[in-house]
Amino acid sequence: MTTQYLDLFSRLIEGSDGGKREFLEIGRLAGRFPAASLRDIEGTDSISVWCSNDYLGMGQHPAVLEAMKEAVDKFGAGAGGSRNIGGTNHYHVQLEKELAALHGKDDALLFTSGYTANDGALSVIAGRLEGCVVFSDALNHASIIDGLRHSRAEKRIFRHNDTAHLEELLAAADPDVPKLIVAESVYSMNGDIAPLPEIADIAKRHGAMTYLDEVHAVGMYGPEGAGIAARQGIADDFTVIMGTLAKGFGTTGGYIAGPADVIEAVRMFSRSFIFTTALPPAVAAAALAAVRHLRSSDAEREQLWSNAQLMHRLLNERGIPFISDQTHIVSVLVRDEALCKRMSAELLDRHGIYVQAINAPSVRVGEEILRVAPGAVHSADEVRGFVDALDQVWERLGADRLPLGTAK
Ligand code: PMP
Repeated sequence: MTTQYLDLFSRLIEGSDGGKREFLEIGRLAGRFPAASLRDIEGTDSISVWCSNDYLGMGQHPAVLEAMKEAVDKFGAGAGGSRNIGGTNHYHVQLEKELAALHGKDDALLFTSGYTANDGALSVIAGRLEGCVVFSDALNHASIIDGLRHSRAEKRIFRHNDTAHLEELLAAADPDVPKLIVAESVYSMNGDIAPLPEIADIAKRHGAMTYLDEVHAVGMYGPEGAGIAARQGIADDFTVIMGTLAKGFGTTGGYIAGPADVIEAVRMFSRSFIFTTALPPAVAAAALAAVRHLRSSDAEREQLWSNAQLMHRLLNERGIPFISDQTHIVSVLVRDEALCKRMSAELLDRHGIYVQAINAPSVRVGEEILRVAPGAVHSADEVRGFVDALDQVWERLGADRLPLGTAK
């Protein structure tokens, strides 16, 4: 590369405070969640992790590990091709059937991540229907935003969880064009839940399709872990349910489940499905074991919810503000980038607790949070220990408290 280009890159990263690099250093964990050691495999800095998306601990569940090892022995390490050209394995097909059954839909389609599932599915669903207008929640994930960008469909953004605004936008749209409403059931940064019955009702009245990202809900909520819409008995009202295998199911990959023809259209046209190597069979086998386990066991969901409720109660008692008590995603509101980073650093240095500070662009400036994820693998005592440590850091750094009893 000529110096001229290197200079351009130097200018591009100018002003970066090294925050991201520091993040990558801290994030280099080794060990089994929620215990970990820092910086190297033999590291002696033993810490506990409070920001993993392996919410139910399925990434280390014996049945999941066993299934993965067995599949590696039988089928090797990689898929060997894209799904359409030699890369489809027995486990991919079985997993798609299992996911369709989980959500009570005709069919399902796997992708290599939740990101590529949203990107590929939305670019086809919104992009291939002539004149489709999309109504998208303001806090929808980057992968949804990118999928909609790739669709080139006309887009109207409704204020977060504001169904009156959604209704207003739909009422103003041409009644004769196809319409699609896109929302998440559990919002990744706020940890709050969308008003799904109202959204479903609005969609029916305006003849809109619905696409629901249940990434932070599948495995964790609803009968057999089928998600929030299923918990509310309205999964049928959502045309497409989208999920990940990387959070509740502890592995990696993403999927959509929906009507046969919609799934087939995505299979035919989605670039992020067609032009990439399929998930390794062993990953599909592990995910299949996780989905099956969580369809038959409530224990992990119960433990997760019990830990989440305990954390909500303890934070309330100490006046430490957090956004929502509706889910296991406990977003502690710090509202200051520097303070948020210091809190994260002090928790790590003084208490051996790792929880990542979340700053822009993941949240808006001034809405910085510590996104705490109590998991099913934490004990109640560990939850108490976590809140005690946070309380001490909160005090030491002079962060604002809510008057007691007014927190969520
Ligand atoms: N949707 C939402 C709401 C997410 O939060 C994420 C990732 N955190 C994704 C989709 C992408 O999922 P994956 O990590 O499987 O790519």
